[in-house]
Amino acid sequence: MVLRAKAMEELAPTEPFKRPAWPGNAAAMSKCKVCKAPAIIDLPRHNANFCGEHLQQLCRRQVEKAIKDFRMLEPGERVLVAVSGGKDSLAVWDLLVDLGYQADGVYIGLGIGEYSDESGGYAQRFADERGLTLHTIDLRDEYGYDVPTAAKATRRVPCSACGTSKRHLFDRAAHDGGYAVVATGHNLDDEAAVLFGNTLRWDIDYLARQLPVLPGDEHFPRKVKPLVRLTEREMAAWCIVRGIDYQVEECPMAAGNRHLGYKETLNAVEARSPGSKASFYLNFLDNMAPILAESRQTVVEGLGLCERCGAPTTAGGSTGPGGSTEGGAPRVCAFCRIVEKSAAHEPVPVELVTTQRNGRRR
Ligand code: SF4
Ligand SMILES: [Zn+2]
Ligand SMILES: [Zn+2]
Repeated sequence: MVLRAKAMEELAPTEPFKRPAWPGNAAAMSKCKVCKAPAIIDLPRHNANFCGEHLQQLCRRQVEKAIKDFRMLEPGERVLVAVSGGKDSLAVWDLLVDLGYQADGVYIGLGIGEYSDESGGYAQRFADERGLTLHTIDLRDEYGYDVPTAAKATRRVPCSACGTSKRHLFDRAAHDGGYAVVATGHNLDDEAAVLFGNTLRWDIDYLARQLPVLPGDEHFPRKVKPLVRLTEREMAAWCIVRGIDYQVEECPMAAGNRHLGYKETLNAVEARSPGSKASFYLNFLDNMAPILAESRQTVVEGLGLCERCGAPTTAGGSTGPGGSTEGGAPRVCAFCRIVEKSAAHEPVPVELVTTQRNGRRR
């Protein structure tokens, strides 16, 4: 098995004095906690080392527990997995299939230059090699824009335009394909970093919605995050032991993303106090999420339907003078607004957006 440098980096422990105990590695002296075979990874938060087989067992159990505890999936339910070609989305797809769920994938071509071309290749090869169904949507071909162009046209940071587009299109793909549920590869590191940011700002709306399951209704599917009990490092290890080849490179638009900074901060805390990240996020779900339920209800009640595409939206519309329908502003969702501005804009190369962002940070 070929281990690429970045993949090994992802396996690097958060505690500097412990080395990843990969076979062939000089540090492979430790033993699996379960079977005493040579360990391939140390997991300080479990205070244990694991061989490849028992690492897989741990991952399966953590996903099963998340699915059961948060009532993510019903037996026999068809699941649509939002696939990016990165380790987490391919791992969650692999885990769901491995656990017996009928899971198909959907990939969105975001038009982020070579990064998107390569990511789509990883997603397609994963599906082909396993005989799985992958639906693909291309932003440029089907909606006349790509993420760099949307960032420029809407004057928003790329991740904002990208996130809005992805959420909308995953929902639509699920609706059109008859899937009641969309699964994403958000892991414990992702959720803890988002929670950290939301807590720094005490953003009650976002905190109220930061759940591993968001219920669906007749307009949009349930959203589930089966990896919330597993870390990035564990997912990188899962992919390596399962022979999953994935996009190792970061999206070029991610530079400057606040969540990367939050992850670094939380990793520093975790290195000093293993298990802190899991406590921070999982105790939030146990202790704070129930208290925030009332705010959540308010958000759901504020939803209306986009007058262009019919999707649920928090956007408001207005009536014309005297309450007439003439002269008022229509209720238009964020996605339709992005399409409107971006499709009319000249295509923008990735480099232009990344150079501008890098320049701004200096
Ligand atoms: S880093 Fe931002 S722009 Fe890149 S894929 Fe993720 S959300 Fe989209
Ligand atoms: Zn073992
Ligand atoms: Zn719309």
